[in-house]
Amino acid sequence: SNTVHVVGAGLAGSEAAWQLAEAGIDVVLHEMRPERMTEAHQTATPAELVCSNSFRSDDAANNAVGLLHAEMRRLGSLIMRAADANQVPAGGALAVDRDGFSAAVAAALEGHPRIELRRGEISGLPPAEWTNVIVATGPLTSQPLAEAIRELTDETALAFFDAIAPIVHKDTIDMSKAWFQSRYDKVGPGGTGADYINCPMTREQYDAFVAALLAGEKTEFKEWETNTPYFDGCLPVEVMAERGHETLRHGPMKPVGLTNPHAPTVKPYAIVQLRQDNKLGTLYNMVGFQTKLKYGPQQQIFRTIPGLENAEFARLGGLHRNTFLNSPKLLDSQLRLRAQPRLRFAGQMTGCEGYVESASIGLIAGLYAAAESRGASLPPPPSTTALGSLLGHITGGHIETIDGATRSFQPMNINFGLFPPLAAAPTRKPDGTRLKGNEKTVAKKQAMSARALADLDHWIAEHLRVAAAA
Ligand code: FAD
Repeated sequence: SNTVHVVGAGLAGSEAAWQLAEAGIDVVLHEMRPERMTEAHQTATPAELVCSNSFRSDDAANNAVGLLHAEMRRLGSLIMRAADANQVPAGGALAVDRDGFSAAVAAALEGHPRIELRRGEISGLPPAEWTNVIVATGPLTSQPLAEAIRELTDETALAFFDAIAPIVHKDTIDMSKAWFQSRYDKVGPGGTGADYINCPMTREQYDAFVAALLAGEKTEFKEWETNTPYFDGCLPVEVMAERGHETLRHGPMKPVGLTNPHAPTVKPYAIVQLRQDNKLGTLYNMVGFQTKLKYGPQQQIFRTIPGLENAEFARLGGLHRNTFLNSPKLLDSQLRLRAQPRLRFAGQMTGCEGYVESASIGLIAGLYAAAESRGASLPPPPSTTALGSLLGHITGGHIETIDGATRSFQPMNINFGLFPPLAAAPTRKPDGTRLKGNEKTVAKKQAMSARALADLDHWIAEHLRVAAAA
């Protein structure tokens, strides 16, 4: 039959099921709650928000997640419709009444003639007779299913933790203090010998930095996080600092094999390295700096690093229990598992992060599956859109290796650093006067947003209406 099975009625699975049903496809949506709960969910309702009630900024002209909201609304998103109908006041952010929001999603799903919401855990690979499946079981995927996916892929293809080092917008790094160089000028595959950005520290700066790491306020680990056997090998930077004053200098902050061209005769006492994080070269991650420090202290402490005084962070560091695939390697451009294309993935498992991002990947997975079920194929949305940029991060925007170091794929929120640069950056206001300082950044974001919405509308007109009519 043409029925599509969606596993997991979270943010992504609920949206995927809705898109399929609205496209005229029958859907069975499988949800294990309440029979089996996750460590974070409290209810049996689809699309439960496990933590904050915020969908973040709703400013489509100036903010990448606000733009993603706008794109999803244009694509008939159920998650956005339910959020808009259950808003609570939150300034420029879109925050929702969490119970009202989830109840609205549940009512829409249960009331749709093409959707069957079936309770029960899928405790292994979905049965072979399901030929068109979307797996959207989220960061807390139940263990039997996670193990089955791990067996199908390989040892390193499914992560049980995200160890996220802060990611910095390159154009906010002060290159009069920092410099490009690979350790020992080593040239690796795809590298030039000058692939890292290096930030030098004196002894005094290092001492103060270690003291600040120790004193900084941290987020507590939950017991179920430290109890998973996959915790080793991604120690937070402040835990390394606790192990000894010199531990970081012998680890990620080793000062060897590097010469500061701004002061060639002064040997730095420690060096922080940043590695290119996206193909475009607009984002750099702080190597080895995964952390449980709270966001405020992170910004404050990391901005004491010479060269990073004015750093803007595309994302801050973290360390959480998470279940996600090495998607750039494992998934094709239609989010299907290369090893078993009947299985399509969606939501946080694919390597996005956040309610909105997860729902958006559910949305596109639903559209892809609907097209496939009709024997058609839907090209991905343009890379200039928020949705397209996020998909680019998931299915191909990564860089293989630089300088011989294996760069592991890490989940990401949507941000303008993932978008392709503008053909020409705006330099003037509509009245002809020159843009100054921060006005340029604002104008750039606004131009990227306008480009995204125009390109999305084209894509919808060209491909989606056609696909739906086929
Ligand atoms: P989920 O929304 O988790 O949905 C997955 C669904 O699959 C669940 O309903 C689950 O019960 C079900 N399921 C799992 N295994 C099976 C199985 N084998 N069979 C059947 N059903 C199954 N994001 C934010 O934007 N803001 C936050 O404040 C925030 N806080 C978070 C706090 C925690 C503790 C965690 C873990 C994540 C948080 N996130 C937050 C991230 C957010 O949860 C996810 O981005 C989002 O919910 C993921 O959507 P999803 O659809 O991929 O997964």
